[in-house]
Amino acid sequence: MTWEVVIGLEIHAQLATRSKIFSGSPTAYGAPPNTQASLVDLGYPGVLPVLNAEAVRMAARFGLAIGATVAPRSVFARKNYFYPDLPKGYQISQYELPIVHDGSVTIPLEGGGTKSVHVIRAHLEEDAGKSLHENFAGLSGIDLNRAGTPLLEIVSAPDLRSAKEAVAYMKKVHQLVRYLGICDGNMQEGSFRCDANVSVRRAGAEKLGTRTESKNLNSFRFLERAILFEVERQIEVLEGGGTVVQETRLYDPDRDETRPMRSKEEANDYRYFPDPDLLPVELDEAFIGEIRRTLPELPDAKRERWVREYGLKADAAEVLAADPDVAALFDALARESGQPVAAANTLQSQLFSLFGPERSPAGVNVAATAAILRLAAEGVIARSSAKALVEEFAFVAAAPDIGQLVKDRGLAQISDSGALEAIVDQVLAANPAQVEQYRAGQGKVLGFLVGQIMKASGGKANPAQVNELLKKKLQ
Ligand code: ADP
Ligand code: MG
Repeated sequence: MTWEVVIGLEIHAQLATRSKIFSGSPTAYGAPPNTQASLVDLGYPGVLPVLNAEAVRMAARFGLAIGATVAPRSVFARKNYFYPDLPKGYQISQYELPIVHDGSVTIPLEGGGTKSVHVIRAHLEEDAGKSLHENFAGLSGIDLNRAGTPLLEIVSAPDLRSAKEAVAYMKKVHQLVRYLGICDGNMQEGSFRCDANVSVRRAGAEKLGTRTESKNLNSFRFLERAILFEVERQIEVLEGGGTVVQETRLYDPDRDETRPMRSKEEANDYRYFPDPDLLPVELDEAFIGEIRRTLPELPDAKRERWVREYGLKADAAEVLAADPDVAALFDALARESGQPVAAANTLQSQLFSLFGPERSPAGVNVAATAAILRLAAEGVIARSSAKALVEEFAFVAAAPDIGQLVKDRGLAQISDSGALEAIVDQVLAANPAQVEQYRAGQGKVLGFLVGQIMKASGGKANPAQVNELLKKKLQ
């Protein structure tokens, strides 16, 4: 008996606003505990939330990017529950009327082809604080710096059919929010995380199986591992004649397993009701139109354009489009050098390995690097010289004028055919035996002769030109 896996993801993307969603406190990560929590974040009585307009713009930007409806009217609701890191006793979220609904995200499938994943809704909400258990013997510390940080919760339909598809979907959404500039995507800091709802059903069954929800997966690997573990566990339970319990589980990366956290709460446990402290959010066509006009070029469109206009290979385009900073760098290099294929090759074969904490794509000197690529394409400098110059100057902000540098260092290849011919004649005269061998049909001697000419020219002869000239002379 085979089983079908069914997965729906709830992704939490922390919006990259400078201040919180309902207060003026900063959202910066890593400050000492409770230094970034205002009275609103602390849930003091009598204070009122004020909605951050930038969070609304960011949510709308996401909605338009996935072809969803940006609701002309949405409503904030209170989700009531008790937890020490939630001093108000409720989380402000959206329930019946979310700001974004019914969009789709296209993911690549492993064996080729694509699949469209339905996004049911994306709603705005505030994050809770954090409980700290280390450094407090017998106690828990509460840090409310994160309380009130704006989140966009992106809820997919149960359209995903494997851990691989779930990872592809999460990666796609991750790429999208970074392109849109609405989330820094830093998964280690928890800025982008997801809950995986997983169930299995007999192949061919119509009804969905009972699901579990594995919370707070903050890496693509953990998402994949948690799903694989859950699928195996649920199948074992069902094949053993048992039933899957609908519950919330926690993935433990150290033991590579999920464990029950709490039984699943139903929506009515939360006593959702519209928050009387906040007005409904009403967005008019002008507001939404302005956001639509300022959407950046998205990764799928970029890849297609590069393949169509620049003749890039599909897999190269895929690699270069993965990260928005790399994509922007490639666009700039391609435009400035007029050599998109060379720019793509240089990025992949040279620059990628140099990127790291100290050297970012944004730190590349585009003018200098483009100049090097141009000189190589024109045959003015050898490919090996171009490579060395990129190595030396790509990350130097105040690089010298490359044209002048090539002259100063004598890097220009010999393009004067008279000068080249003299060197060729000289080498042929010095190696009569090899010339004889070549004429007797030993074609591989040509390589030796080219090598001798390159050496005699101090490496400055243009190899293509040398080959051509040599063949002509030997005929
Ligand atoms: P809740 O808000 O109670 O968590 P929802 O119905 O809003 O429940 O669904 C939350 C997530 O669970 C969605 O991503 C949805 O696709 C997914 N989901 C719902 N039912 C199933 C199921 N049987 N198997 C897998 N995923 C499911
Ligand atoms: Mg849920």
